[in-house]
Amino acid sequence: MLYKHFSNKSALESGTWVKLICGASNEDLPAITDLCAVYGAAGVHCVDVAADIAVVTAARDGLNWVENNLGTKPWLMISVSDGKDIHFRKASFDPAVCPKECSRPCLKICPANAISKTLGVNEDLCYGCGRCLPACPLELIQEKNNVLEIKDFGELVSKVKPDAVEIHTAPGRIREFESSVKAILQSKVKLKRIAVSCGIEGHGINQYELSQELWSRYKCLRRYNQKPIWQLDGRPMSGDLGIGTAKAAILLLEKIQALAPPGPLQLAGGTNENSINHIKNNHCLAGIAFGGVARKLIQPFLIEAKKQNKKLIECPEAFDQAIKMAKILINPWLRKRSRKNY
Ligand code: SF4
Ligand code: SF4
Repeated sequence: MLYKHFSNKSALESGTWVKLICGASNEDLPAITDLCAVYGAAGVHCVDVAADIAVVTAARDGLNWVENNLGTKPWLMISVSDGKDIHFRKASFDPAVCPKECSRPCLKICPANAISKTLGVNEDLCYGCGRCLPACPLELIQEKNNVLEIKDFGELVSKVKPDAVEIHTAPGRIREFESSVKAILQSKVKLKRIAVSCGIEGHGINQYELSQELWSRYKCLRRYNQKPIWQLDGRPMSGDLGIGTAKAAILLLEKIQALAPPGPLQLAGGTNENSINHIKNNHCLAGIAFGGVARKLIQPFLIEAKKQNKKLIECPEAFDQAIKMAKILINPWLRKRSRKNY
């Protein structure tokens, strides 16, 4: 089956841009591969995953499938934070205290082969699924929060070589934002965009203050010759539930669209299948990012493939069905009436 793909540049300019957010945390690596393959084949322009090597590797497998089979490849974006937000959870234990006679159930259960007999958990491979924790009869394994520090951005971007990086920022963090940009650019990786994700909810600011924050970041990005995408985080970590959350993202767009700096706007945080119903003519320039709702739609197919010990990409009929479901979510955005005026 052939799936039409739309150019990223024109989609960004016309507001028909669609991004998949997946692999934020504690997701199955095969599921990340499948989600990227399904939504890539369905026509998203970009997938946005956690800045973690294990997750990026899984996402790339899905994107490579799309490229090899359809000849197109969505951008790979990684997300970092210029604050102290928890980046990821990782398992951790001291292998020196494990009894020699232990049959190593932790090692056997780890789907990422992240546990070694002598070295414990390899943090580059662990993606925080948590399966090993209850497997240890002595309860030696713990979850620890992992914060990716700004100084480490450059090295990570060099290793991962993404097409774009998204910086999650918050009011008052312009200095940290600039440090993040500098660290990212030390990698010398040529990025197509640096996206900026910020919202109002939970920050105690209004749209005018948000716009000032965005403008300061715009000036910073221009200084470093980088092009932005403005991700408007309507309701952070909402899980994309219900009509109310869809409205939150649109309300933020309505408040900020006339005040925002130049560059494409993109809705996120609470976006779901209802978001399109709230779009009016003057919202035409905003693209969208789908997170939890995109996963939920495909979940029955992922579960079925798992029961057969397969990835979804290895089940051609189910894979095609999953793409049809994905298209129901994203096609209204890919096809919405667009207006190019910047
Ligand atoms: S080490 Fe534990 S938490 Fe990490 S990927 Fe393996 S099973 Fe999952
Ligand atoms: S199951 Fe527990 S005791 Fe056994 S090797 Fe793993 S961490 Fe050590």
